[in-house]
Amino acid sequence: QAYQNIGAREEKVKAYLALDEEQARARARQLDDRLVSGEEKGLLFGLPVGIKDNIVTNGLRTTCGSQFLRNFDPVYDATVVEKLKAADTVTIGKLNMDEFAMGGSSENSSFYPVRNPWALDRVPGGSSGGSAAAVAAGEAYFTLGSDTGGSIRQPASYCGVVGLKPTYGLVSRFGLVAFASSLDQIGPLTKNVEDSAYVLQAIAGYDAKDSTSAKVDIPDYLSGLTGDVKGLRIAVPKEYIGEGVDPQVKETVLSALKVLEGLGATWEEVSLPHTEYAVATYYLLASSEASSNLARFDGVRYGVRADNPENLLDLYHQSRSQGFGPEVKRRIMLGTYALSSGYYDAYYLKAQKVRTLIKQDFDDVFAKYDVIIGPTAPTTAFKLGSQVDDPLTMYLNDILTIPVSLAGVPAVSIPCGFSDGLPVGMQIIGKAFDETTVLRVAHAFE
Ligand code: GLN
Repeated sequence: QAYQNIGAREEKVKAYLALDEEQARARARQLDDRLVSGEEKGLLFGLPVGIKDNIVTNGLRTTCGSQFLRNFDPVYDATVVEKLKAADTVTIGKLNMDEFAMGGSSENSSFYPVRNPWALDRVPGGSSGGSAAAVAAGEAYFTLGSDTGGSIRQPASYCGVVGLKPTYGLVSRFGLVAFASSLDQIGPLTKNVEDSAYVLQAIAGYDAKDSTSAKVDIPDYLSGLTGDVKGLRIAVPKEYIGEGVDPQVKETVLSALKVLEGLGATWEEVSLPHTEYAVATYYLLASSEASSNLARFDGVRYGVRADNPENLLDLYHQSRSQGFGPEVKRRIMLGTYALSSGYYDAYYLKAQKVRTLIKQDFDDVFAKYDVIIGPTAPTTAFKLGSQVDDPLTMYLNDILTIPVSLAGVPAVSIPCGFSDGLPVGMQIIGKAFDETTVLRVAHAFE
């Protein structure tokens, strides 16, 4: 079925950067044989999956949407890929994305942009735009994306699918090409909440190969989907339904809250007072970390190497000038500046302090409420090309997802209605490592 849909739709949607049908069919045959021999089936047996192209796959090209890595074939699997294989999935290909996960529309892919299956003249969101579009178009049963400041949730919202960003540390980052290491998390994009719980069950857990991996017990996420939200206390931050949020998006989310009320939950307006500083804080911290993480792309170790350099310095210079696209360069420059001596205290250190304040905002609200709910993004999917030349407007699309990333807590975006024929996403945010409640509320609404 996935291949039929790929055949029919991929030419227009452009969700994939690489498809490996031969390998996938061999894998499917291998699983069939195991079935015949009566072996036990894995949790996700036979499901065709797509993997975001910044998650390394043994022998399957991994470009991060960048020209720099257009010839990079990893020699090992990321932990999440190993775990999916152990659950008996079939990898069908690698998914298009903004270069090195920097962007919110998938237009920064240095190969070709992805289009929104609901309206081909609109963006699918980003940076995991390929991951969201593939699920929406039925070109994979589910996909993996990565979320640093909203890159799973915002495209899920624009494409009308379910996107879960787990608590920082719950899912191993080993084999995820780092953008901003203190924020990056891998998570599933699925058609519904139950599938999300299944995939999380398969990929969550401690991994010694990731130094920030959390040693926590993994609950049974599926048995948590009881449908019961009676007595649940919901907080709705006034900053998330205020100025800058499209009125129709707001109305759609408020109607969704009424549905939850009907199921026995209660909601109240609260404040996350430092929300207005989140975008600036994030772009300083994420760019700083990126400037350090991306130093490894020097033309020597990974990917392409410039021809005819004059000397070693020139090799670095030329390889980086040619390999990186404009948005990646912008972030490296911003991050290098923010980290340089003389500016470090004023920018990086200050941003770290504000991050703590933002985290405290969440702690304060979670002392009294079970979940926080709001829109995932201020608008629905915008038109291709309408924001590419305006990075600041593009950055502001992340205002409702970034605070969650800075606080490190889990959140899921689920479809909650339509505005002018385009899907609207609602974000359900939980306490750290309380994915069970987040998924339970999402499931009850669905
Ligand atoms: N849109 C945000 C950015 O450009 C988020 C990206 C992400 O989460 N990877 O940084």
